[in-house]
Amino acid sequence: MLIMSLKIGVVGAGLMGHGIAEMCAIAGYGVTLSDITDDILRKALEKIKWSLQNLAKKGGLKEDPERIVSRIRTSSNLKSLSDADYIIEAVKEDSNIKKELFGKLEAITDSNCVFATNTSTIPISELASSTKRADRFIGLHFFNPPALMPIVEIIRGDRTSDETLEKTRNLARSIGKDYVTVKKDVPGFLVNRLNDRVILESMSILEDGYRKEDLDSMVRFRLNFPMGMCELLDFVGIDTVFYAGQEMKKRGFDTRSSGILKKMVEAGKLGMKSGEGFYKYPKPNVYVRPNIMPSDGMYLVNPLRLISAAINEAAWLIRNDVASLEDIDKSMTLGMNWPEGPLKLADKFGIDVVVSVLEQRLIDSGETRFNVDPLLKEKVEKNELGKKSGNGFYSWKWDHTDFGAVKYTKIQDYGLITLNRPEKLNSLNEEEWETFRLALEKARDDNEIRCVVVTGEGRAFCGGDDIDMMSKWKSAVDAKKWMEKYATPLIDLLANYPKPLISAVNGIAFGGGCELNLLFDIVLASEKAVFATPEGLIGAMPPLATSYGTALVSRKMARYALTGDWITAQEAKQIGFVDVVVPHEQLTIVTAEFVDKIRRISPMAAAGVKSAVNLVRQGFADQAKFAAEELIRLASSEDFKEGQRAFLHKQKPEWTGK
Ligand code: NAD
Repeated sequence: MLIMSLKIGVVGAGLMGHGIAEMCAIAGYGVTLSDITDDILRKALEKIKWSLQNLAKKGGLKEDPERIVSRIRTSSNLKSLSDADYIIEAVKEDSNIKKELFGKLEAITDSNCVFATNTSTIPISELASSTKRADRFIGLHFFNPPALMPIVEIIRGDRTSDETLEKTRNLARSIGKDYVTVKKDVPGFLVNRLNDRVILESMSILEDGYRKEDLDSMVRFRLNFPMGMCELLDFVGIDTVFYAGQEMKKRGFDTRSSGILKKMVEAGKLGMKSGEGFYKYPKPNVYVRPNIMPSDGMYLVNPLRLISAAINEAAWLIRNDVASLEDIDKSMTLGMNWPEGPLKLADKFGIDVVVSVLEQRLIDSGETRFNVDPLLKEKVEKNELGKKSGNGFYSWKWDHTDFGAVKYTKIQDYGLITLNRPEKLNSLNEEEWETFRLALEKARDDNEIRCVVVTGEGRAFCGGDDIDMMSKWKSAVDAKKWMEKYATPLIDLLANYPKPLISAVNGIAFGGGCELNLLFDIVLASEKAVFATPEGLIGAMPPLATSYGTALVSRKMARYALTGDWITAQEAKQIGFVDVVVPHEQLTIVTAEFVDKIRRISPMAAAGVKSAVNLVRQGFADQAKFAAEELIRLASSEDFKEGQRAFLHKQKPEWTGK
């Protein structure tokens, strides 16, 4: 709502100033726009008209553009601002120019007039000191372009009054802007501070030899930011980013300049504006979006490495009462179009994981910006780790059921099943088969659960059927009973499961532990994971690998069943058994990303996909049944007994063919 009769002055009609004047005029305010020459003002007015025409064409205006423009008065004489109630300064980023200007404005305006500065880097209190109205002086930081960006940062100087703050919040609201409040005058405020952390880390990632294409595809397709880092830097201008960092450093922000950016500035590779930056453009100021595609390489770059320093910074901002948790996250979602703010991301990936990445970066670089903020340490000590523990920076729906051999945790809207007999490599005894099924049923019957993740505790995913259990079978009858009571119900449940199933294979996945993956929808594997179907070595056979595996994955599953050869995670990916292979420390991160991907599709679409896929699987149910019967037949053989015996005694089996 318009603040009645407020007369707005905008000084500086450049990139930002003309946009700010336009926003105020659209909202209904009378605006006086001032700059040093009439020519600059004429051009600014032309740009405003052009922008208003565009907005009108898109149906974004309630009034005729001409009427809106009629509310803007331009003047190169500063005195034209003498009747203003609220002045927004948007002149060149130079503290001397700004201070001199405020001194002049002080002399000509009413003492109640509020002065707001759009500075990006200069402390508000320093500028306020050039006036006698520090209580009526405030930072009002718009983003570029002001007409499109939905948010402003409102920054309190040391002496800004509550009344001035409230007036500024109301003004922001009245021109259709959301805002965040920066309660203390820190260099870079929120967005530039957090951005600097991410930008610098993106440059160290490149310094460590990662390809810019892999960095950018990780940022776009894993973090889901709207632009890759190099892509963004090119768009904004390498020099702009470089100098902004230097300004913040000058004002006491713990940062350093990036060697890569410095060299690029020196070489005139300034990004889109010079025709070349990280990427090449047809000519200066002609923008063609770099062609960034998802790649295997994007899984090499750890997304948490990119954002951990920003999360650390966010923790510092909260602990020092600079901004609220909500405002910090809002500043990055609305100011930078991140899909989630840094603190939500910390909760998603796990605050303990963030801390370990920071600790490692501190060791590797020795740079103090990686000193873990006490707030993060405190959260880890209190087991407030984020979504996985139910509490972090936010509270999350969380529920835990201990089934004994299996742990089940409901984390917000997904179920995490952890096979939990680490001392036995999570091998499948009767209890494990049964509790795994119970956990799956619990997740299936919970309407809030969107998908299920299965992983293993300790160094193994699942070592396969427990040989101790199998060696106790006296005859085929025992094997059949086991099949009917334990194996078949779980296999049937998996093959017909109505919700997406993801496995996060953290290590050894042998025998049944390898085969169950054939019934999951998405298989994510640590590069340390190793698969095998070595049942033949103990006189048995892998029923799922020889049925679903050969039909749905690859003829090669027959080779692995016939040899017991180990399958590396990469080989498993090549044959289509595994979807994504990641460095071990990224397995939980990539799992959280895939849960998010599933969350993005509609629950009904997911159910439709599952019905269709399950129908295909059912097409091979007879073959799986046949293979299971073969296994039961083998279980009554002499060779089966010999295989179990030899395995348990660590001996070579003597096969008789009986
Ligand atoms: P700009 O160079 O496009 O415009 C600055 C304008 O100020 C020019 O038209 C110039 O003639 C005018 N000017 C200079 N001295 C003046 C004076 N004494 N009196 C009146 N007018 C004067 O710069 P910009 O990008 O619009 O930036 C303006 C301010 O906004 C800076 O403080 C900048 O840090 C801040 N800012 C910029 C961006 C951005 O992305 N460009 C974003 C947020 C904040």
